[in-house]
This record gives sequence, structure tokens and C-alpha cells, in this order.
Amino acid sequence: MENETKNFIEQIIDKDLADGYYDHVQTRFPPEPNGYLHIGHAKSILLNYGLAKKYNGKFNLRFDDTNPTKEKSEFVESIKEDVAWLGADWEDRLLFASDYFDIMYECAVKLIKKGKAFVCDLTADQIREYRGTLTEPGKDSPYRNRTEEENLELFENMKNGLYADGEKVLRAKIDMASPNINMRDPVIYRVAHMSHHNTGDKWCIYPMYDFAHPIEDAVERITHSICTLEFEDHRPLYDWVVRECEFDHPPKQIEFAKLYLKNVVTGKRYIKKLVEDGIVDGWDDPRLVSISGLRRRGYTPESIRRFVEMAGVSKSNSVCEMPMLEYCIREDLKLKKARMMAVLHPLKLIIDNYPEDQVEYMEVQNNQENPELGVRTVPFCRELYIEREDFMEVPVKKYFRLFPGNEVRLMNGYFVTCTDVIKDEEGNVTEVHCTYDPETRSGSGFTGRKVKGTIHWVSARHAVKAEVRLYENIVDEEKGVYNEEDGSLNLNPNSLVVLKDCYLEPGLAEAEAPESFQFVRNGYFCVDSKDSEPGHLVFNRIVSLKSSFKI
Ligand code: ATP
Ligand code: MG
Ligand code: MG
Repeated sequence: MENETKNFIEQIIDKDLADGYYDHVQTRFPPEPNGYLHIGHAKSILLNYGLAKKYNGKFNLRFDDTNPTKEKSEFVESIKEDVAWLGADWEDRLLFASDYFDIMYECAVKLIKKGKAFVCDLTADQIREYRGTLTEPGKDSPYRNRTEEENLELFENMKNGLYADGEKVLRAKIDMASPNINMRDPVIYRVAHMSHHNTGDKWCIYPMYDFAHPIEDAVERITHSICTLEFEDHRPLYDWVVRECEFDHPPKQIEFAKLYLKNVVTGKRYIKKLVEDGIVDGWDDPRLVSISGLRRRGYTPESIRRFVEMAGVSKSNSVCEMPMLEYCIREDLKLKKARMMAVLHPLKLIIDNYPEDQVEYMEVQNNQENPELGVRTVPFCRELYIEREDFMEVPVKKYFRLFPGNEVRLMNGYFVTCTDVIKDEEGNVTEVHCTYDPETRSGSGFTGRKVKGTIHWVSARHAVKAEVRLYENIVDEEKGVYNEEDGSLNLNPNSLVVLKDCYLEPGLAEAEAPESFQFVRNGYFCVDSKDSEPGHLVFNRIVSLKSSFKI
């Protein structure tokens, strides 16, 4: 702990505590309930929660629900589920910004009384026009010098519903010549005759984000208000609001770089479009990097935590690659999961010299690298399924698996030698025949000869059938995420492959979500939480076994 390098936020916190600027640490995750969370949010959640834990502080989950148009209770529920699943415990601090509407209103009144806010009748277009540009200062609104009394009355009228949407706004009175455009008398309240999911029809005026957010933080006694880089030039306004509203323990805004994944659709808006266009099976489609999609795909909170730690916290934008996330889930599952046999593209293998009614129960280690996972038995008999690609009638160079005349090892079974091939009228291979050598039983210590190929199998009589879904990136990585001409997504037509007739060893018959396993040679798989049921098993491939990612 002592010698570890601290990220720049931890260095700021250390200094604030050492200087006595704060005597505690309090962080928050402030999602707007207008969609489901994604891997980028996971970074923010784990960062905020991790800091609170590290400094013995507190972590709030606060819904930033000040904009009634896009917000829905469905999103509130999904966000709670995702944050809890990631292990970020908000204890009894589940908070809603809309619960502070009264306080925000009081703050606005206070600003008016201090001569720091005014009601403005300019239209949205005029306000934009008056605002000026980066190179040109703005112009004062003709309503800027209204008296305190007039402003108080008009603001109350705004609250009481006397004006239509857009007719009047409340603006902070700061500086129309500020080099920072955010400081040019920003709008802090607008009229919007809309029902709110929490406060119903109580309000027809709603605070703007830049005014509401610092107040939310200050009310909750947040110390370090961590947000993403695009808010850097909003910080002067953030500081202005907490100062002018005269909060005792002003919070500090700290910006960090967003998590960005190369060639992956991450923004909430873009994911929402995939959902609305029906391109994916809801927000939890296993191809999405929404948190619910990752969970359904079989990612674990531990793997996401590790990924976020590897990505690090910094002030400059950088891009992570999907293989790094895949590496993290492989590492997490490697020693924890049993390695089962499952055949995804079945081909019948018949052992002609094996007694027809005989069944042997092979004892198999669940995980060769972790004896703690124990052993299981797997039935072996005369007719098996093997992977279609483990047989070639005419082998290519360096092919060591099954072909006529060749001997291979059946993993956890016997050596078999291919003797014959049966085909249908079209020439497709339908059965492969072989003989086995009883001396070569797995675990018998046989050392008489070696074979180069080892293949897996399941007993045809005992196998359970399952549907298996294989996934690739939803976007075409060769072309990049967006089509340069019309901005549409370059979709990968192979992002979902459904295999309906897979055969699994019988031990998997009772598997239920969220269980996951290694299927030897094929990758890691989990039971699908939405579509799998007893009698109709559905598995998702989480990730294959091989990786291009190197640490
Ligand atoms: P999106 O950018 O996907 O539309 P958002 O920023 O609008 O998301 P909010 O609900 O407003 O979503 O975000 C809640 C918190 O999550 C904010 O503090 C925001 O800065 C943070 N956040 C959002 N996206 C990322 C990301 N890619 N990396 C890190 N933090 C993020
Ligand atoms: Mg947002
Ligand atoms: Mg955003």
C-alpha cells in the first residue's frame, strides 16, 4: 500500500486531507436515468466507490433526474441493479436530485436577492446570438438590469405556471465578456410544462444541469465531484454556483478522461439507437457493452474491476482495446470454472470394437490447474459425438487429428484409430468409424506409444442437447464503427451465430444462469439468463480461449 503509485485524483485527495481542507471523503455516482449503464459508467462507478472505500469515506448513488423529458423509472431500476452488481454499495444513500428541487429554487431566489440572477425574456435563438463566440464577447441582455422586486415576482410567476415553455428563463448574472462562454450569463432555470417521474406535476420550471449539479453535490456534502473531461470548462461555473449560493463545505470538481473502447459502440445514445432500431435483442443483448449486456454475456464484476484498474485513471484521453477486456474475463474464470466437454458442430464417431451396451464412467479432474475444484465422472460408450473439424477425410499438412488410418487420443478416454467413413448421397460425412485400444485408458499410466492429437467428445447416448450462441463485435472492425458517408453504423453480419444442435456432457443438464464453464478447446460459456430453461438450454460464448492480447 505504502509504495504504490497513486493516481492524480488520489494525490489531490491526499493533499486536501493533509491540508485540512476536508476532514472526510465523500463521492457519488450521478447517472441520469435516461438509459442503461455501459462499461464507461462502470469506470466512473468503480472509481468513485473505490475512492470512498480507500479513504474510509462514503459513496452516494444519486440519480441526476432534473430533466423530465427523457427519464424513466425503468432506467432507475436497471441502474440500481447494475451498480449493485458491480459491488458499489451505496448503503442507505440512494438519492434523487429531484428531491432537492425546493432547495434549488431557494438558491435561485437567493441569487436574485444578491443581484446575481435575472429573469430574461429573450428567445433561445436570441440568447444564442447575444452569447457571442470564442473570439467575440457577448452582449448584455436588455433584461439584465431588472430590479430585484421585478425578478422575484417574475420568477415566482414562472414557478406558478404563468408562462409557456420558452417564454422566460432565469439566468445567472456573471460576465458577458468572459473568455469562457459558459460564464456568459448562463440559463439556470427554464419553463417546461412536463410531468416528472418523481415530483409529478408539482413543478413547471426545471433547473439546468450546470446549476443543479453543484447544488446536488453541496447538499450531499460531496468532497470530490468526479466527472469526465468535457466538463472542464464548466468548472468555473460550478465554483461560481457553490460560492454564490454560500454553501459551507464547497465540493471540488475533478475531471478525468472517459473510457473509450476501440471499434465498440459505447455511448448511451448509440446503444439506445441499436435497441430502438431492433438491431439487438434489448439493452442486455450479449453483444453490447452495456453492463446488463456484459452480465448476460457472462462477464463478472471482478473482470470488469480488473479491466478498469488496468485502464487506469488519467487526464488525457486514451483508447482501450476489447481484447484487454477479454483477457480480464479469461483470467478471472481460468481457475474458477470446471472444464467440461461440449461439442458444438457434432459428427458421430462409432467405436466398432467397443461393446454395444457398455458404459464406463471416466473420472475427470474439473480443472487441471486447480485441484480444489475436485473431480466428476463422464460417461463413455460406443457412440460418441466429436467436433466436425476434428476429422478430415483427406488431411491437410500438419493435421494431427482424426483421418483414416490415424490414431488420436480421446481426451479422458482411450486412443482410437480411424477405420472408415460413411457419407450420404451428397458426399457429406455422416459417421466416422474407429477402433479403440483398451490398454490406453486415460489414467491407466499407459506409455506404450504417443499420439500427436487429442480431441474431445461426448457420449451420444448421454449427451444433452443445447443451443449455443457465438458472438463477434456488432460492428465491422475492418470498416470502423461509423460509415463516413451517412454516419450509420457499419454492422458485422456475423455478430451472432446460433448453433441449435450442440451436445454437452450430461453434467451440464441442470446448469442455470449465471453459471459459467469452460468448454474445452472452445472457450468460456455461460447459461443465457433470458432464454435458457430446463429442457431448452441456451449457452452464450463469453470468450474464446485464445488471445491476441499481451500484457
Ligand atoms: P453517455 O456519454 O454514454 O451518453 P452520459 O455521460 O450521458 O453517458 P450520465 O448518466 O450522465 O451518462 O453519466 C453518469 C456518470 O458517468 C457521469 O459522471 C459521466 O461522466 C460518467 N461517464 C459516462 N460515460 C463515461 C465513460 N465513457 N467513461 C467514464 N465515465 C463515464
Ligand atoms: Mg448525460
Ligand atoms: Mg454524455
